[in-house]
Amino acid sequence: MKTIISWFFTIIFSTFLFAQQDEFQLIPLKEQKSNFQKMLLYNNNPNTQNYDLRYQRMEATLDPAVNYITSAVTSHFIPNASMSSIYFDFTNQLVVSSVTYHGANITFSQLPTKELKIDFPVNIPAATLDSLTVNYAGIPDPSGDAFAVHNQSGVPVMSTLSEPYGAQDWFPTKQSMNDKIEKFDMKITTPSQYSVASNGKLISETTIGNNKLTFWRTQYPTAAYLIAFSITNFVKINDVIGNPPFPFVNYIYPSTAANTSTMSDIEWTKQVMNTFENYFGPYPFRNEKYGHMEFGYNGVCMEHQTMSSMNAFPRRVVAHELAHQWFGDKITCGAWNDLWLNEGFAVFGEHLANEKLLMTPTEFLSYLQGQKNFITSSPGGSVYVSDSNLGNQNTLFSGRLTYSKGGFVARMIKWILGDVNYYQAIKDYMSRPNLAYKYAVTSDLNNSLLLSTGKDFTEFFNQWIYGEGYPIYTIKWKQATNLQSITILASQTTSHPSVSFFKMPLPIKVNGNNGEVAYFKLENTINNQYFTLPISFSVSSVEFNYEYQILESNSIVQQDNSLSTQEIKGNSEILIYPNPAHNEISIQGIIKNTPYKLFFSTGQLIQKGIYQPKTTIDISHLEKGIYIIEINSEKLKFIKNK
Ligand SMILES: [Zn+2]
Repeated sequence: MKTIISWFFTIIFSTFLFAQQDEFQLIPLKEQKSNFQKMLLYNNNPNTQNYDLRYQRMEATLDPAVNYITSAVTSHFIPNASMSSIYFDFTNQLVVSSVTYHGANITFSQLPTKELKIDFPVNIPAATLDSLTVNYAGIPDPSGDAFAVHNQSGVPVMSTLSEPYGAQDWFPTKQSMNDKIEKFDMKITTPSQYSVASNGKLISETTIGNNKLTFWRTQYPTAAYLIAFSITNFVKINDVIGNPPFPFVNYIYPSTAANTSTMSDIEWTKQVMNTFENYFGPYPFRNEKYGHMEFGYNGVCMEHQTMSSMNAFPRRVVAHELAHQWFGDKITCGAWNDLWLNEGFAVFGEHLANEKLLMTPTEFLSYLQGQKNFITSSPGGSVYVSDSNLGNQNTLFSGRLTYSKGGFVARMIKWILGDVNYYQAIKDYMSRPNLAYKYAVTSDLNNSLLLSTGKDFTEFFNQWIYGEGYPIYTIKWKQATNLQSITILASQTTSHPSVSFFKMPLPIKVNGNNGEVAYFKLENTINNQYFTLPISFSVSSVEFNYEYQILESNSIVQQDNSLSTQEIKGNSEILIYPNPAHNEISIQGIIKNTPYKLFFSTGQLIQKGIYQPKTTIDISHLEKGIYIIEINSEKLKFIKNK
């Protein structure tokens, strides 16, 4: 959820105008001030696991001037075992007057656990599509904020904001993070001066006397918390977006429609849509629409599926909510513990919008530096949300961890894979049949990355998602007297004991006295590791993490002519890259043509050759398995992974 707009202003201003750190620290405080509804401290309600919720139709009568709901919700479901009763997640603040099933009223009870239990007259057999209707009314839970009446220019606005656990505060549904509702119809009758915005396609608007019936339908699977509406005297702007174009529908306040600057921010959505479709794959809900509906939750924006709810339109937030349509809506976090899969990648969407559309390269680096400083402003805290913190909104929606660090983790995956492989892996992730329009947890992303790239990110996620903190590097360098190489010694400490060593490729930029530049990506696999890099110019300086490719803090780079040749020889400066590998490998740290032997792990010699620096050895013909390269009297192991 819940992009707290004020923090985006904070980031913008702090990056460019003010000292950064203190401003960034405001982020969690802003969230703390937000009013959140009552928590259910589970991801999946065990009582609702015996059926698949296929379809819901909400038929409600609402007057935005009156905080009251009168509604009938029809649900179609398929039991996965013979079923004598069914449970829905539903508040006991609203009063159920009847439940109708096959034309008759049946018995039900509203439980203090915020569940509605309905008993069937006879058992329903497994795998049988069936349906029932719940009729209810009342004043929505005043302690929550999932359903609220605000006003704009004196006109009432009635809207909903359910993430994470609030859908049940206004309709009986299934909130479990393992079952999407395949189809949803929203039919709302209001006084005729108002318009209703909601998910999916507008099917009809029918005036009946002084009332208007508005009918929206979505046929994309939707998580309960992503169902929403907003009602006021909207100006409706129907446009198109994307290439090829599809509907772009904005329901905005009359005062917003009169604001040319905000209107150009909304128009800008078209540019960011093109960028995201280019890098993330097709917009997931092309058959219906994308759009924005304004709502009255102060300082909040929310990625409701096909129509983001907005309280303002800063471009970074427009980008963030749009990115959520892929990350959060098409693929929804399968547990709130893994909320970073929604929020981290939505923040990565901001990175992308900043990099490609909004900022100069210098501004973008400044933004990244600000993010890095904010993330490392405290030594601990995990991106993964522990079970005990699921009910703590400050931890669940931590600006520093779930959002910014999650976004930087996505950036680091890009650094590890390179842009081309990264964006292809993201597109693959978005289109996997077991994940698309469904749910994913961190291990699903890990499996998808492995399938796409052959690279196993298990250790990476252990360090950066489940572990806490960041590395602090000392990079020492010395140029060889013959000016043909430099030696680098990379050492690290960590900010938090949960991770003793971050295994990361190190971004190194070497500058020459005459403007020469060389870039290296050093596979840093052990602490105090030496690297010998072929450099054929006189080195003036070495830069580390030169484009903020990785998270670290307080790292230092120093020229150290006391690095001894003895040390250099005595350490494993020779490395195979990539490892595991698929088609080819290269050997780092070899600076002249050197004979090598390739063995199977059993010791059987497979081939001999001469390794030429900066070239690769073809291994595409090898069987999957473990191999050993002998070079310069060192034995290096690598894995051929497919
Ligand atoms: Zn978000």
